[in-house]
Amino acid sequence: MKTSSFIEESEQYLLHTYNRYPIVIEKGEGVYLYDSSGKKYLDFASGIGVYAFGYHYKDYDDFLKGQIDKIMHTSNLFYHEHTRDAAKAFIDASGMDRVFFTNSGAEAIEGALKAAKKYAYTKKGKNSYEIVAMEHSFHGRTLGALSVTGNSKYREPFEPLIPGVKFAELNNIESVKNVISERTCAVILEPVQGEGGVYPADVNFLKELKKVCGEKEILLIFDEIQCGMGRTGDLFAFQGYGIMPDILVSAKALGGGVPVGAFAMTAGVAEHSLAAGDHGSTYGGNPFVCAAVKKVFDIFEKDNIVEHVREISSYLEKKLDELVAVYDCITVRRGTGCIQALEFTRDVAPIIIEAQKKGLIIISAGPKVLRFLPPLVITKEHVDEMLFVLKQILNK
Ligand SMILES: *Cc1c(COP(=O)(O)O)cnc(C)c1O
Repeated sequence: MKTSSFIEESEQYLLHTYNRYPIVIEKGEGVYLYDSSGKKYLDFASGIGVYAFGYHYKDYDDFLKGQIDKIMHTSNLFYHEHTRDAAKAFIDASGMDRVFFTNSGAEAIEGALKAAKKYAYTKKGKNSYEIVAMEHSFHGRTLGALSVTGNSKYREPFEPLIPGVKFAELNNIESVKNVISERTCAVILEPVQGEGGVYPADVNFLKELKKVCGEKEILLIFDEIQCGMGRTGDLFAFQGYGIMPDILVSAKALGGGVPVGAFAMTAGVAEHSLAAGDHGSTYGGNPFVCAAVKKVFDIFEKDNIVEHVREISSYLEKKLDELVAVYDCITVRRGTGCIQALEFTRDVAPIIIEAQKKGLIIISAGPKVLRFLPPLVITKEHVDEMLFVLKQILNK
């Protein structure tokens, strides 16, 4: 079937919530994607930060195939070895004390918000329901996650959303203090804003924020759905900052390709928060996805992925900085580790389309921001290959 008629047919059945690119993906191999005509693409998006190890990591594939032959789903009425192992791996790696597995990032945000609300309800009473979130943040598309997403265009059609959400400015502690009240139960933020344009939080801002939250018994929630799982050159971004949240949210690369998210909390929060009957999920943390989570943590350790990210990202940063110096249309580089961005003076959409024609997948984070979110296992050769294509486009 011709690509154009295939796309036409797909659009006939799918709800049009995405403007998809006119590419039909057939398979992935390593850090490359192949479309249905056999064309090869270097993948600098990794399924939006999901495929940390590239496509077809043998050990991971074999383990999941084996699990399919045993059992994929049990419901949370029972225990399973992989669910225990995945939880232990998450707790050991994060320093949190209790974890709940979900089926997506947005759902993990929902759980984190519920956990914070329940904690405040238990400790301070039912009027402590306000949440402070950041402008330009992104936390997902479900109603709770949308309520704390700092983009009014996404929120407006669905209002009224959950009440008591106030927005502050990232890296401006006064703006946070201005909206905190007696009723505030939590502050939620991404240590590195992803969708909003790749803006890392300043370490001093986070230090101050931690202090303010601590003084007022307000829970600090870090959304590490995009910036966690090795991407910043630490297993979790907060570890690089040396600032521990009370609630940590993960997803995307957590499952290496299967739909899974997680929210975790300290023992102090868990003790006064969600209890039996307060939260649940039919699929959440089933043996199949937990086999994936367990393998993902294994591979991080076995293959020294975090060290590799530190090495390769210093090369990537250097090369991107060279582009900023050479091309007038690029104003600045932002980012840390393997979550990087270049800000342009003009729309980047044509660059993305041109890159696809030349066999490079790259995405945006806002109209003028090109985002680099490669598999964490890329090498210098892959960076050079990406730059070769990008320079060709920019030179035109
Ligand atoms: C992708 C993302 C989400 C939402 O995750 P989904 O799995 O798409 O629901 C939430 N927060 C951040 C920071 C994200 O990047």
